[in-house]
Amino acid sequence: MVKQTTTSSTQAERLFQLQERYVGVAIVAQVLEKIPGTMMIHIAGYIDSMNINFFQRYTSRVVEAGFTRLALDLRDVSFVSSTGIGSLVGLLRNVRALGGSLVLVGMQPRVLEVVLLLGFASFFELAKTTEEAVALMKASADQTVFPKNDMCPICGKRVRLTRSGRFRCPQCKVVLTVDRAAVIRL
Ligand SMILES: [Zn+2]
Repeated sequence: MVKQTTTSSTQAERLFQLQERYVGVAIVAQVLEKIPGTMMIHIAGYIDSMNINFFQRYTSRVVEAGFTRLALDLRDVSFVSSTGIGSLVGLLRNVRALGGSLVLVGMQPRVLEVVLLLGFASFFELAKTTEEAVALMKASADQTVFPKNDMCPICGKRVRLTRSGRFRCPQCKVVLTVDRAAVIRL
């Protein structure tokens, strides 16, 4: 189990902005500032026994730095060995245990084939595009803070917040804006 720590995005950028390369693989990670603990990780090349340790060390560092909502952009990945898929499953378990999520983006047919063959397809959230992945991570972030019981700041009536958006207080009818962190604003 990896201990979760919080790292500001500036620190995180310093840690992960630079492209890292190893035999057969290049990784570039991008912090998504608008959703806490979120990172988009672009991978190019292949993942197999040659670079699996490098890949695992990299993703461990990401999780240790407090990033538990991850999207792996696999559009430029031509091959992932069964060991590689196994390490993706390991990563998924780590982030889930910390309340996070893992989305796989744009798997090529050859990679998807291995995932299906190993019977792991239903384990992962799959997205076709990075935009779709961001939407899935947003939804996952929302689920973490909702539902929440709070009070209308105008009339003091108890309200149950189930998602972000604009709602009317059932008592005083004032319009309340609930942000993604489940905080009420007028
Ligand atoms: Zn009210």
